[in-house]
Amino acid sequence: MLAETDVVIVGGGLAGLAAARRLHRAGVPWRLLEARDRLGGRVATDAVDGYLLDRGFQVLNTAYPRLGTLLDVDRLRLGYFTAGVLVRKDDRLIRLVNPLREPAGGPGSVLAGVGTLLDRLRFAGLAAGCAALPAGRLLTAPETTTEVALRRAGLSGAFIEELVRPFLSGVFIDRELETSSRVLAMVLRSFARGRNGLPAEGMAALPRAIAGPLPADLVDLETPVAEVAPRRVRTQAGDIRCRAVVVAVDPPAAAALLPTLATVRMHSYTTYYHSTGQAPLDEPILLVDGDRRELIANTVVVTRAVPSYAPAGRHLVATSVVGPTPPPEPAVRAELARLYGRSTSDWTHLTTVRVPEALPAAPPPQGRLRKPVALGDGLFVAGDHRDSPSIQGALASGWRAAGAVLASLRAIGPGEPHD
Ligand SMILES: Cc1cc2nc3c(=O)[nH]c(=O)nc-3n(C[C@H](O)[C@H](O)[C@H](O)COP(=O)(O)OP(=O)(O)OC[C@H]3O[C@@H](n4cnc5c(N)ncnc54)[C@H](O)[C@@H]3O)c2cc1C
Repeated sequence: MLAETDVVIVGGGLAGLAAARRLHRAGVPWRLLEARDRLGGRVATDAVDGYLLDRGFQVLNTAYPRLGTLLDVDRLRLGYFTAGVLVRKDDRLIRLVNPLREPAGGPGSVLAGVGTLLDRLRFAGLAAGCAALPAGRLLTAPETTTEVALRRAGLSGAFIEELVRPFLSGVFIDRELETSSRVLAMVLRSFARGRNGLPAEGMAALPRAIAGPLPADLVDLETPVAEVAPRRVRTQAGDIRCRAVVVAVDPPAAAALLPTLATVRMHSYTTYYHSTGQAPLDEPILLVDGDRRELIANTVVVTRAVPSYAPAGRHLVATSVVGPTPPPEPAVRAELARLYGRSTSDWTHLTTVRVPEALPAAPPPQGRLRKPVALGDGLFVAGDHRDSPSIQGALASGWRAAGAVLASLRAIGPGEPHD
């Protein structure tokens, strides 16, 4: 096969889909080639026996700026988690919530036995500052690691170890908290401004909604790209000639297709899904381990936020572990009994989802979190490794790469923003 189009997008994850949407809107001929038999990349859901099992527990934050351009978030029918965490410390469960988002949070947030009152006020101040300041200010503030930034904010070692590290290790998939303080600032901003939730039909509903307006005949599934070169893409079925190529694959695949790109280290994440007839908590809130055992990053009764994730009468518990060597399920189940403070022996282990390459590491320097997307010679690159390591980063990078393509093709129309 020797075909021609203006732009070939390689990869149908969120970045590739965002790029396709922008090119489509601009009326530029394009084609998307995806290696797998489905779109969505790292955002996927398996429906098994009435359960919705996302390929790794993840959440959608409603404050991600690029979402609104690409879909009507209301149509996802999100179920929401409490804006806060529950911390297991010794024999107590301590509830810490964002008082601005959860006014009915009660006195627990102020009197809680994690860190000092000053710790909690300082952390709330940090998050409020990230929510209120212009993004440009956050992205030009001095950059360091998350761990150093938290200490510089005056948080005590106990508060960091018992609350912030367990919580953020699940967000960044990085227990060392070596992630850039600028990524921290943008994450705190999203958490303070938006809500975290899951679509009623599972996380795969997100890429489905973004792909919705795209003509199916411009998308080739099960079409792995073997090689990209200026103005040419090679597949097993033959070459496609084009004016521009957007490489929107995952970071390891991007480094293979574009050897000039720096290799990106990836963090590993494993989610254990259990089913139970009796939910161990009444509330849709993330539970973290304040006892510094470090086996489990977080656990949550998903069905308290979104009942459609399990068949009637059952609850789904998602438990996530950070690192390349996940523990065996019985060890996780024993820890869950300690964390929830009740027996888990009658829980059913549904499956364990291991994602060895879940999220790109983002240590300093990340600059303004916007790495170049135009590589020259008609080659462009998108993906969460070009922006913040997140759904927002993937969408923003794809949108930005398509903008750069349009500019290079001189097809950019009046009023078409470049970023
Ligand atoms: C377990 C887990 C939890 C997460 N939690 C969160 C969270 O809570 N909040 C958040 O914001 N983000 C979270 N993320 C991150 C977020 O899901 C990703 O940042 C985002 O989905 C990445 O999208 P992408 O398009 O950049 O890459 P990908 O989704 O990896 O898409 C790349 C696509 O390229 C395809 N491809 C690869 N090679 C080729 C080739 N040679 N030819 C053709 N196609 C190819 C792949 O099959 C894939 O479909 C999480 C990720 C994981 C895995």
